[in-house]
Amino acid sequence: MVGAGMAGLAAGRHLRSQGIDVTLLEAGPRVGGRVQTDIVDGYLLDRGFQLYNPAYPEGRRVLDLDALDLHPFVAGAQVVLAGRGGRRVARVGDPRREPRWAWGSATAPLGTPLSTARFVAYAASRAVRSPAALRREPDITAYEALRRAGADRSLIERLLRPFLSGVFLEHELTTSRRFLDLVLRSFVRGTPSLPAHGMQTIPTQLATGLDVRLDTPVDSVADDHVVTAGGERIDARAVIVATDPASAARLIPRLRVPAPRSVTTWYYRPTCSGNELANGEGVLVLDGARRGPLVNTVVLTNAVPTYAPPGEVLVSASALGVRTTAENERAARAHLSWMYGVPTSGWDLVATYPIPYALPSMSVPLEIQRSVHAPGGVYVAGDHRDTASIQGALVSGRRAASAVIADLGLSQRKDSA
Ligand SMILES: Cc1cc2nc3c(=O)[nH]c(=O)nc-3n(C[C@H](O)[C@H](O)[C@H](O)COP(=O)(O)OP(=O)(O)OC[C@H]3O[C@@H](n4cnc5c(N)ncnc54)[C@H](O)[C@@H]3O)c2cc1C
Repeated sequence: MVGAGMAGLAAGRHLRSQGIDVTLLEAGPRVGGRVQTDIVDGYLLDRGFQLYNPAYPEGRRVLDLDALDLHPFVAGAQVVLAGRGGRRVARVGDPRREPRWAWGSATAPLGTPLSTARFVAYAASRAVRSPAALRREPDITAYEALRRAGADRSLIERLLRPFLSGVFLEHELTTSRRFLDLVLRSFVRGTPSLPAHGMQTIPTQLATGLDVRLDTPVDSVADDHVVTAGGERIDARAVIVATDPASAARLIPRLRVPAPRSVTTWYYRPTCSGNELANGEGVLVLDGARRGPLVNTVVLTNAVPTYAPPGEVLVSASALGVRTTAENERAARAHLSWMYGVPTSGWDLVATYPIPYALPSMSVPLEIQRSVHAPGGVYVAGDHRDTASIQGALVSGRRAASAVIADLGLSQRKDSA
């Protein structure tokens, strides 16, 4: 196995659960790939703002969710709007999970009540369909799907575009409605959360008991062996390339992979308490007026206090693209001031994470569940074979492992992983 991200770890566990010996060769010093957490002065900094949705079906199969100690965020969003008197804030949430927000959600000046009701009905209808049925829906853009579902322009511009931009990592909503539908399904069925000790605990849990060789980049692959950057040849009955899409394309020359979507996350330590920000809530804050570069910001410690030393506050702020200059950071900081309605010039910048290949594009035309058989007789796994998510990476890993088992003529045992 090449790569010990979520896909490689899922494939490794599935193979091992079938009694097959597997070795994971990982280029980096840790497992997890894009799901990693750095600890800096007691702050937990995920490599780019990300959340785990406990409704992911594959996650429920392979993870011990209780052991992750998941802390849910508010099942909704706080939307900052430009009103006549300046800044105003609307709070929208799922009334089943956030009953205290029900009135605010019903009266929020986002779209007309009819448009909002139609969108809610659309999202609810996604939640009761199976992922397989959603994958077969006509492949139109998310924007078109939302319009056809009855969402008016105001609802899209003030709420849906700001929210979905942070999920798809693109503003135009050219992402396929097939992915949109799966995202809505997850949000209706589960509340996005963070593990108490950082996103890294998810891959670390999956890696338990697996044979992983860290700091071992692979230079070339064939159907029956790999060669590491150190020149070591390792023979195998099958080879799964479970790397990020760009590395997969380098290792398997004729493999087609989607274009990258990039994002930058800044982490700040504010000068005020968490209670003074976003009403003390752990909620996604969006800008319905698009007054700056940020797609979202969250006071992480309002939901998960363990993300900072006791009593300290940690805020994440994310913008699309790779933004590394001081000017980029100043623009993010100024935007934060608008989003929270407090001065931010004295906030400490804790770290910046520019991530060039954060997600594979899921734009139209989109084939979800692309083949795990790659040119040259090797197998391929990764979010680019399924969906741009942890769920997609996990599924792709199991699919690749199942293909190996089938092709080697081994019968599948009931998966105990
Ligand atoms: C900022 C950000 C936010 C996100 N937010 C969410 C979210 O909220 N919810 C969600 O579900 N998903 C989210 N995602 C997406 C999710 O993290 C990814 O879809 C998933 O982790 C991809 O896993 P993977 O195993 O396919 O690939 P990767 O995580 O990229 O793993 C590939 C591994 O292969 C290794 N590798 C590469 N080349 C070689 C080589 N030559 N030899 C050996 N090893 C190699 C890499 O070091 C890496 O460890 C987010 C991603 C990012 C970056």
